[in-house]
Amino acid sequence: MRVLLFLLLLPAVALAQQPAAKRIRRHVRFLASDAMNGRGTGSPENARAARYIDNQFRRYGLNPLGTNGFRQPFVAKVRRVVVPDSLRPAENVIGFLDNGAPYTIVIGAHYDHLGMGRQGSSLDSLPQGKIHNGADDNASGVAGLLELARYYANNNVKEPYNLLFMAFGAEELGLQGSRYFLNNPTLPLANLNFMVCMDMIGRYNPDRGVGIGGYGTSDAWPTVFQGVTSPIKFFTDRAGNGGSDNAAFYAKQIPVLFFHTGGHPDYHKPTDDPDKINVDAEKHILDLEIALLNRAMQQPKMVFTAVK
Ligand SMILES: [Zn+2]
Repeated sequence: MRVLLFLLLLPAVALAQQPAAKRIRRHVRFLASDAMNGRGTGSPENARAARYIDNQFRRYGLNPLGTNGFRQPFVAKVRRVVVPDSLRPAENVIGFLDNGAPYTIVIGAHYDHLGMGRQGSSLDSLPQGKIHNGADDNASGVAGLLELARYYANNNVKEPYNLLFMAFGAEELGLQGSRYFLNNPTLPLANLNFMVCMDMIGRYNPDRGVGIGGYGTSDAWPTVFQGVTSPIKFFTDRAGNGGSDNAAFYAKQIPVLFFHTGGHPDYHKPTDDPDKINVDAEKHILDLEIALLNRAMQQPKMVFTAVK
């Protein structure tokens, strides 16, 4: 009977913490619904997205590490197009999992998108007034951020590193949230081990696989990846200085990993919709991230390497 109970209970307990497709879908559907008007920087819906993430961080029991609770407000600037309201309120949402460790790993994803197509960088021929839902870019990454936060906050393991979960504002205006944090950090940057970035992880294509950038940003990454397998296909890329907020961390000589499922015809268009997100594949991507993070946490603090 004890053996039977053990067999019955253990998988349920272990699986309960793992990222789940149904929660990923729920987060993406909320953040990228038409009611959110594309989460443009400075819009009420962008603020609503920040509030949603704030509430989730609070629910998981993370400690606030912004300058105003979980929030770190800043002023973003629209530079690509000329608009009367070029200065817009923005904020990062920052939650800390304090394991009492000397060093901290950053896990980040931006939550802003192109709004109603009036802040530049839409690829639609007539973008003004159209809702740019940004399901893949980057509700998918935020869903990943929330699932990783939930996992690490509730797994009853005290990891040898602290974890800092950050949802960045104003990425689409040029990495402004991540740069603002790095210039106004709420913990010493010297204590950061490495940064994991998720931007567009919802369009898994089995022919391509999920790309993992930043492999060359520390000599420790090959050891971390050794023997790690996944039901989905993945490949590494040495470069760490492009694509998303990871570039801002790379510029500060912090090792990075950047997860990305690749470009598609809906990129930066009003058709980047929630029903096109492959939540089952995203779940496997997050499991892979957990496997890599757990192996990285068995290593000493990483040393940064510039990629030629
Ligand atoms: Zn993005």
